[in-house]
Amino acid sequence: MAFNRPDPAESPLRTTRTELKRKRERGSHDRSVVEEILDEGLVAHVGVVADGGPIVTPMAYARIDGDLFLHGAAGNRTLRALAEGSALCLTVTLLDGLVLARSAIHHSMNYRCVVLYGRGHRVEDEAEKRRALAAVVDHVVPGRSAVARPPTSSELRATLVVRVPIVEASAKVRGGGPVDDDADLELPVWAGVIPVEVVADAPVGDSVLEAETTAPVSRLRG
Ligand SMILES: Cc1cc2nc3c(=O)[nH]c(=O)nc-3n(C[C@H](O)[C@H](O)[C@H](O)COP(=O)(O)OP(=O)(O)OC[C@H]3O[C@@H](n4cnc5c(N)ncnc54)[C@H](O)[C@@H]3O)c2cc1C
Repeated sequence: MAFNRPDPAESPLRTTRTELKRKRERGSHDRSVVEEILDEGLVAHVGVVADGGPIVTPMAYARIDGDLFLHGAAGNRTLRALAEGSALCLTVTLLDGLVLARSAIHHSMNYRCVVLYGRGHRVEDEAEKRRALAAVVDHVVPGRSAVARPPTSSELRATLVVRVPIVEASAKVRGGGPVDDDADLELPVWAGVIPVEVVADAPVGDSVLEAETTAPVSRLRG
């Protein structure tokens, strides 16, 4: 995935808050860069202030056009806070490598990451709720919502769905090897990158599965 696209100076995603400070050359406010990272990620860490303090909850999600959708039990603290108007900060991180330098201080990680600020809106409309939930399932395994039993009305009532418009966000990408100090380059210490990837192994069917039932194909390389 190429991220060296020019950062649109006038991108609406760029605000005082999403202006990168350190290593700003690694940042981007290009919507397509942000969306590619969101689409490849599987887990969002969703931070809100609820009951007097911060809480960060890992969650599944899906993107439909310019919106992210989160879901969970109707009593979920984070989602309830969002439905009641709390602000959120959400991150999605793709870890691409462990960067080992000759000196301890220059160890790092290669990554593609999004930080997104915003507010959520409770999804009340039943059709939109169903579409969002199908998208969350399909984000994990494409096409899965077409084969799985859809939610019943009572399952829908028990599920809180929140829409988060993607209006204020930044991406940050680190690639390449370690950046050692010149004075350390001759140290007899291994330096380089250990690539990291999330891959899917062969599916393992559950114990009551009919033998002829087709296994899903993950979007993760296996
Ligand atoms: C896997 C991983 C491990 C990291 N480990 C460390 C670590 O150990 N120590 C450390 O100091 N930093 C680490 N970082 C980088 C860290 O996320 C921040 O980018 C960095 O701390 C710079 O903070 P700042 O004070 O300059 O900016 P801040 O003032 O914190 O951020 C200003 C704005 O820049 C944007 N921004 C900042 N960081 C990111 C990001 N990662 N992705 C997208 N937008 C961003 C946001 O919009 C934010 O509002 C890591 C990042 C990743 C993805």
